[in-house]
Amino acid sequence: MNMGLFTLTEEQEMLRKVIREFVEAEIAPKAHEWDEQNYCPTELFGLLGEMGIIGTFVPEEYGGAGLGFIERSICLEELGRHSAGLAISVMAHQLCMGGILFFGTEEQKQKYLPDLASGKKIGALSLTEATGGSDFMGQKSTGEFKDGKWVLNGRKCFITNAAVADIDLWTVITGKNEKGRPVMTAFLIDKDTPGHTSGRVEHKIGLRSSNTGDVSCVNVTLGPEQMLAQEGSGPKIALSTIQEVGRAGMSAINVGILRGCLEESVKFSNERIIYGKPLNKLMNIQFAIAETKLDYETAWLLTYRAAAMKDQGLPCAGEFAQSKYLATEGAIRSAKRTIDLMGGYGAINEYPVGRFLRDALAGSTAGATSDVLKVVIAAETLKR
Ligand SMILES: Cc1cc2nc3c(=O)[nH]c(=O)nc-3n(C[C@H](O)[C@H](O)[C@H](O)COP(=O)(O)OP(=O)(O)OC[C@H]3O[C@@H](n4cnc5c(N)ncnc54)[C@H](O)[C@@H]3O)c2cc1C
Repeated sequence: MNMGLFTLTEEQEMLRKVIREFVEAEIAPKAHEWDEQNYCPTELFGLLGEMGIIGTFVPEEYGGAGLGFIERSICLEELGRHSAGLAISVMAHQLCMGGILFFGTEEQKQKYLPDLASGKKIGALSLTEATGGSDFMGQKSTGEFKDGKWVLNGRKCFITNAAVADIDLWTVITGKNEKGRPVMTAFLIDKDTPGHTSGRVEHKIGLRSSNTGDVSCVNVTLGPEQMLAQEGSGPKIALSTIQEVGRAGMSAINVGILRGCLEESVKFSNERIIYGKPLNKLMNIQFAIAETKLDYETAWLLTYRAAAMKDQGLPCAGEFAQSKYLATEGAIRSAKRTIDLMGGYGAINEYPVGRFLRDALAGSTAGATSDVLKVVIAAETLKR
């Protein structure tokens, strides 16, 4: 990215063109049906892997595309433009990959990353529990060290890819520190490990082409080599992954939804004739389009600025909190505005704008609610 002009490089624009053509041909025509049928098209992960959409930021030595977070944002924005459901499935898969890439041992990277980056295997990050979402240290799952093995027990909820994941990154409480506070540790669990099962599948208001549900561990026994980083590294792994991979991904997906709102508004208002003229001759319709354009541009700039900072190794958690807040809230506002602009047609499922609104609403909690993000942004601002 040319930071002076804040535009993408020629190579990044070329990548966008290729991904856009692919998404328009392979994803867009099926997105409505997947949403109606609550269907997560996991069979596409191999193809998405071949396109470099999945392993974008994974180095080539581990089977990835060896690119950065700007390129990842481009891929998720393009996917999110037509299927935010499939996009969150890819995004959550990348949470697992990011955890391994940034915190794993060389052996763990060699073992897991090539299959994950190519889309041969699917990943999940299981952090949230009934007692621990925003308050993630409130989780109750446990890990006990017995006879040289770790034994995990507990239940996670709202996990993206719960029923389709081959590799599940879990956090559990493995004890208490000297101050009596819980010690959280992360583990990698292979799908067929006895006692590890997916449970209830959620029927969501939106993002319906992603799989979301419960995952349980009942006496899941793991060797010490399945621990990610050290005992007690759980909060660092969870926070860094959620902040810099999760919120980054949700920002880009919502930028995609915002572009969808903008394009649908322009197309509809050009074609719809009322009072003998195109709808776009009305001043309030022009204002609606201007407001959606502003929501899109501000979300785009914040998302790509934060991604550029991540690629430059700069601290960027605060910037991703800002981008996720603006992109999510902007997408909700703009989808509602687009429905209003379309009159009765906005209520008809043949148009994708209803899905845009449901997707934006369903995704607003994932990776932190907007109020939690405001808490983070205020804390950062006050600190400075
Ligand atoms: C579609 C979807 C996909 C998801 N995917 C995953 C996944 O892959 N892995 C995973 O681990 N989790 C996942 N989640 C869970 C998600 O991360 C949590 O739902 C989120 O962190 C909020 O936690 P909670 O649901 O417990 O809500 P709560 O934390 O109980 O929030 C309830 C209310 O309290 C407010 N609140 C909470 N804390 C504060 C605070 N400090 N200050 C002010 N207000 C506050 C919130 O804004 C909210 O209004 C997913 C959720 C959804 C909806």
